[in-house]
Amino acid sequence: MVVSTETKTLKVFSQLVREVVKPEKCTFCGACISVCPVRAIGVKDGWPTLTGRCILCQLCYYQCPKVEPTLEELEKELFKNEGGIGNPLGFYKAIYMAESTDEKIKFKAANGGVVTTLLKIALEDRLVDCATVAVADGSEGWMPEAKVASTFQEVLEAAGSKYTYCPMVTALASAFYEYMRSSVAFVGTPCQVLSVRKMQLTSMGHRKLGEAAKLIIGLFCMENFNYSLISEFLPSIGVKPEAVFKFDISSGKFNAYSENGENIVSISVKELEKYSRSGCKTCPDLTARLSDVSVGSIGSKPGFSTVIIRTDVGEAIFKKALELKAIRAEEISEQGLKSLIRVAKVKWDRAERVREKV
Ligand SMILES: Cc1cc2nc3c(=O)[nH]c(=O)nc-3n(C[C@H](O)[C@H](O)[C@H](O)COP(=O)(O)OP(=O)(O)OC[C@H]3O[C@@H](n4cnc5c(N)ncnc54)[C@H](O)[C@@H]3O)c2cc1C
Repeated sequence: MVVSTETKTLKVFSQLVREVVKPEKCTFCGACISVCPVRAIGVKDGWPTLTGRCILCQLCYYQCPKVEPTLEELEKELFKNEGGIGNPLGFYKAIYMAESTDEKIKFKAANGGVVTTLLKIALEDRLVDCATVAVADGSEGWMPEAKVASTFQEVLEAAGSKYTYCPMVTALASAFYEYMRSSVAFVGTPCQVLSVRKMQLTSMGHRKLGEAAKLIIGLFCMENFNYSLISEFLPSIGVKPEAVFKFDISSGKFNAYSENGENIVSISVKELEKYSRSGCKTCPDLTARLSDVSVGSIGSKPGFSTVIIRTDVGEAIFKKALELKAIRAEEISEQGLKSLIRVAKVKWDRAERVREKV
């Protein structure tokens, strides 16, 4: 059974522009660009734009995370009505606080290094051939690029969070079309995960591309930012982007650290409002509810990741990591769970409010 999405009206790129791009709901996940069979969609100033002749196939429209079906409809399909719809965290089997046992990973990682560790195991165990990663560092001005990683070294180099949007679905397409890989670990923000599940679960979904994603790791995400956060904001407070080794957002603060661990920027996320991507405000999903396993920091102590296990695939890779002693984990604390639920609800309610206004 798939979720039916077809309508009588033709939903081509111009419709996507009207419904999503013009009202600035687009989060630049890269799905429309990735599925266009004639490569007629390009990018201008961070927005998808028509650069060739549209053949009216409608694929771009139907993979977009900002149009119907809703997150809830896809959740019902994916989790076979097992519940979770009314829960701010969605359906899950278990939630842990965890960290990698590999110090090299932890040094480079955003939080507990769980994402990088799970990717390492998935590659080494040949569960997947490659993984999608966001690559950026100070030497390149922190401009993230969505890439395909086939070795642990490549995955390690991509560890850490880049808080500017990066079209991860294009890396899935690159793995599938350019590297001819049909077994990929996909890492992405909630909107990007939603797009890949649409490919898998809806009647107009790009099934082959979606099904190449054998493991879907979702990152918690309250919002993403425009690149001007790096290119304008950091210099405006006297910080050179190349001086930053790592970023994180914790307890409502955006932080940047130098390679020796010194906290060189710490500013309330609220003050960065003008740099945030407006499309994120209509997204209700903090914890990537459609992933196999979701990872973030809210709910855990510093240096640890909060890990939400949702599917059998997610459970299997997490258990493997525990068996190999590649990660250490304990159940999330009651207090941690409470704050995770609270923040998830804040994001859900914000999206409802914004939707009502539109
Ligand atoms: C834009 C953004 C917003 C986030 N907001 C929150 C939040 O509000 N609350 C919270 O608890 N956690 C948030 N996170 C998640 C958090 O920053 C960590 O990614 C997560 O805790 C995993 O940590 P880790 O140490 O296990 O990951 P690591 O082992 O460091 O691996 C991180 C992985 O994320 C990928 N990645 C990095 N940047 C991006 C990007 N821009 N787009 C797609 N993939 C990327 C990398 O390729 C890498 O594979 C956010 C992440 C991003 C990218």
